[in-house]
Amino acid sequence: MAKGRKPSTIVAAARPDRDPAYGSVAPPLWSSDTFRWADADTKPDYDYSRTVNPTRDLLAEALAELEGAAGGVVTNSGQSAALLALLLLPAGARIVAPHDCYGGTYRLIKGFEEQGKLHATFVDMLDDAAFTGALEGGADMVWIETPSNPLLRVTDIARRAAQAKSAGALVVADNTLLTPVRQRPLALGCDLVMHSTTKALNGHADLFGGALLAADPALVERLQWWANAAGLSGSAHDASQILRGLRTLVLRVDRQEQSARAIAKWLSRQTIAGQVLYPGLGFMISFRVAGGTQAAAKFLAALELVTLASSLGGFATLICKPATMTHRGMPPEAQAAAGIDPDLLRLSVGLEDAEDLIADLARGFAAVG
Ligand SMILES: *Cc1c(COP(=O)(O)O)cnc(C)c1O
Repeated sequence: MAKGRKPSTIVAAARPDRDPAYGSVAPPLWSSDTFRWADADTKPDYDYSRTVNPTRDLLAEALAELEGAAGGVVTNSGQSAALLALLLLPAGARIVAPHDCYGGTYRLIKGFEEQGKLHATFVDMLDDAAFTGALEGGADMVWIETPSNPLLRVTDIARRAAQAKSAGALVVADNTLLTPVRQRPLALGCDLVMHSTTKALNGHADLFGGALLAADPALVERLQWWANAAGLSGSAHDASQILRGLRTLVLRVDRQEQSARAIAKWLSRQTIAGQVLYPGLGFMISFRVAGGTQAAAKFLAALELVTLASSLGGFATLICKPATMTHRGMPPEAQAAAGIDPDLLRLSVGLEDAEDLIADLARGFAAVG
């Protein structure tokens, strides 16, 4: 593969070389669970689809190229990609993670900690003293999620990764929100980059998937070993659908971001919208509703175009209340410490017309009075 290809080329380029039978332009779907051996002592490249599958490999290769990774594993959800990262750790490992990370990530790390499998420190990644303090005595893994979900706070990846590496940690970045089209954590010093492909990479809100990619080929092998041992691989059908969704990733991110910018600008002029959180990139916006929880409920009930639902990065604009929806796995004290308050709403801007979206949000605010 030519080096340094741009994201638009990576996602759109045909791979007829991967179909030796017919040279298909659209990649075939190899859904078979198993493959024939020529003789019992010569393992074919593809033998059993939990271990390895050609359709899943096509997706893993595209994602690795987008992220500048040596390779990686396509898993059956974002959560199984996060689990796969944790499976690399020895018993009793120390992990430092953002106090405002994705609720599912928090629940998984916390669950393992409660079973005595690891020690976790949840820290404000923007607080120098707190982060340095958390690394004292060393760490085995540092988890980065930026912009954080739902507060969209931006972590300096290069700086935190360098600190984490000098403390001896493996550094993982959850790059679900910005996608490799906007941010490439491996180039900034991370060891691993994870995705929920359920979100923007698939973009069509119709499946679950994940990926964990690594810069170092030896680490890729360990990921493949654990994904096979634990049965975390994604299905070939889903891989085929994600490859199809990925074709338009660059177009979708450009368009969704353009609309998000317009909406964030409009929101910041509405007195009824409290604080507006938009990092200037990507399709996610969070904001508070002046008037608190009840005002937020009225606002949500009046929306007609924007759907009240979890998830993000898809074609349809979704809104959610993180405190009771995406982050309900986080106890109220932890939510309060992270600033995930009941008046906070999170918007994932989709592909609808930005003016229509603004009109719908205006309808919501009008209902608050
Ligand atoms: C959705 C999400 C996950 C979990 O992915 P699933 O595909 O739902 O398992 C992890 N991290 C972030 C940032 C997410 O948005």
